[in-house]
Amino acid sequence: VLSLRGIRRAFGDHVVLRGIDLDVAPHEVVALVGASGSGKSTLLRTVNLLEPIDDGVILLGGADVSDPRVDADRVRARIGVVFQHYNLFPHLSVLDNVTLASRLVHRVPRADAERRGLELLASIGLADFARSFPDRLSGGQQQRAAIVRAIATEPELLLLDEVTSALDPELVGEVLALVRSLAEGGTTIIMATHEMAFAREVADRVVFLDAGRIIEDAPAREFFEAPRHARTREFLARFR
Ligand code: ATP
Ligand code: MG
Repeated sequence: VLSLRGIRRAFGDHVVLRGIDLDVAPHEVVALVGASGSGKSTLLRTVNLLEPIDDGVILLGGADVSDPRVDADRVRARIGVVFQHYNLFPHLSVLDNVTLASRLVHRVPRADAERRGLELLASIGLADFARSFPDRLSGGQQQRAAIVRAIATEPELLLLDEVTSALDPELVGEVLALVRSLAEGGTTIIMATHEMAFAREVADRVVFLDAGRIIEDAPAREFFEAPRHARTREFLARFR
């Protein structure tokens, strides 16, 4: 689905991504882990073309989307994204949030988009909130609505950036359960996360970023049970 080759990004003198190579296969779930400031969010923003790159190539479905002639909005329409917080538009109903991209970007007729949107909301127990505004929902409900909004257009790839880190602990589980069910359903996911237990359980692969470099990229089990690098062991020791 996705191949990154030699991605570099600096903010002034501060080099944040130092040559990232990463391949994600269809239906794969990749956890992106690393210390705060290691470049996880910058990398996810790069994939979604929200962040310009200084060097490297981004291939989505085999096509070079980092070419400046490419229409970034058309690329973004193929990728679902959920950030840490403030994902829903506060002035739109929950259902309008979920159906907006389908209707405006993908030109799905309103009735069809709403039927699908209501199905998605029902699948996460929020059908009764379809006509409510987002501020009527708990943080966990908002994040779940943001996640179903991101998949409503059936994107090729779903990017999740610390989707539970702004939530009260008791709301984390319901959001992780939704991510787990998407992973089991075959959605291709790259998720930056500090939830190591969750990464271990749900991810096929774990990629460890350290100061803008991938220093370990391994099947989840291997990553947690037999990390190769001293830096990885040090990092994991903090979660024990
Ligand atoms: P966290 O776990 O805290 O979310 P992260 O791994 O997502 O961290 P990034 O947000 O990608 O890290 O940031 C990587 C580095 O890039 C940090 O040092 C940050 O200060 C820097 N950075 C990110 N965005 C900008 C920007 N727009 N201008 C300048 N520096 C930036
Ligand atoms: Mg981040």
